[in-house]
Amino acid sequence: MFRVNEIPLSLYIHLPWCEKKCPYCDFNSHLLRDPHQYKDYANALTLQLSDWSSLVGDRKIKTIYFGGGTPNLFPINLIELVMKEIYLAMDLEDNLEITFEVNPVLLKKEFSTRDYFLGLKSLGVNRLSVGVQSFDNMLLQNIGRVHDSEEIELFLSVIGKIFTNVNVDLMYGLPGQTKAKVIEDMNLVKRFEAPHISYYQLTIEPGTMFYSRRPRLPGEDIIWDMYRVIVEELLRHSYSRYEVSAYSREGMACKHNVNYWEFGDYIGIGAGAHSKITTCDFVERRIVLSNPFNYVKKMTSKSSFFNRTKMTPGAEVLFEYILNASRLTEGFKILDFEERTGLDFSREMEKFCLAHDKGLIKINSGKVIPTSLGLNFLTNLQEIFLPVEQTA
Ligand code: SF4
Repeated sequence: MFRVNEIPLSLYIHLPWCEKKCPYCDFNSHLLRDPHQYKDYANALTLQLSDWSSLVGDRKIKTIYFGGGTPNLFPINLIELVMKEIYLAMDLEDNLEITFEVNPVLLKKEFSTRDYFLGLKSLGVNRLSVGVQSFDNMLLQNIGRVHDSEEIELFLSVIGKIFTNVNVDLMYGLPGQTKAKVIEDMNLVKRFEAPHISYYQLTIEPGTMFYSRRPRLPGEDIIWDMYRVIVEELLRHSYSRYEVSAYSREGMACKHNVNYWEFGDYIGIGAGAHSKITTCDFVERRIVLSNPFNYVKKMTSKSSFFNRTKMTPGAEVLFEYILNASRLTEGFKILDFEERTGLDFSREMEKFCLAHDKGLIKINSGKVIPTSLGLNFLTNLQEIFLPVEQTA
């Protein structure tokens, strides 16, 4: 039996447009051809918001996240339209975290960058997540980013005067990158005093431009060295690592992402967005169709636009829980595990004992905690929990 009222609830809004498709990107992002698409899309979001508010009953929203795509391409008046609908349709907690994902591109007309971000702040946004990836112009070019280091630095200094809660996304394992260039990136980001850094390894995903024309990447040993230096350097500079790729100053962890990793619930609004809602007997998942043009059409004609699946407590829920919670360096409480999966921990001991015997987790004081071996070899840890039909 799930304990629904104990499970926090988040809201995700997907804004899928980008100026240019990056060659490594497998997100649901699309080139914008006609600015009218923004308006139609924002209207579709408000329709979906009012439709889905009934899905959550009287549960309150704890965090909101605008992701993309490049959300800061959206005109501020349309963000306002969506925010107004959120305030109208949803019950919101006090101390709400509202994150807005952005690319470090400076606005040239209509609104200056500063005005745009002051506008976001006045709408309640209190956290920014900036897709920097690197400060090195050659590396930025190699991965097809539209901004250069000068624009990034200017952008960070503008938003740094408006927002204190800022995440900077960086990447390692890039074509042409060396360990010395990773250290240079870290030194630059520290200069901006970002209280949160997310560091991702470049992976080549099917369906991307890099998948069909593979760039020359650094060797595995060099990538391993980069990873080690990132962890060591950030810990040395008073960041704590709370998730495999996330580092923060004290109290600045991203509440929205932590809710995903702790297997909390979320409503996803927009093309391709996922929702997870726990009821008394099962976990329901909804996935909205991913093409934004079809999404707008279906929303306005009120026809069906999502896939729906249900999971009852069992092997699939166990695996999904581990897939998320094993990423957290502090692990998870056994009590939370039981509340969110509807499973009895003592009945699942076989797999946990196997992971323990391999040195991938520790179990003590009512908690399951991945060891540093488990974090370094996360896939091996997660594979132990694969449902039988999915194992090789
Ligand atoms: S800016 Fe981000 S979402 Fe857009 S194409 Fe590049 S990686 Fe993908």
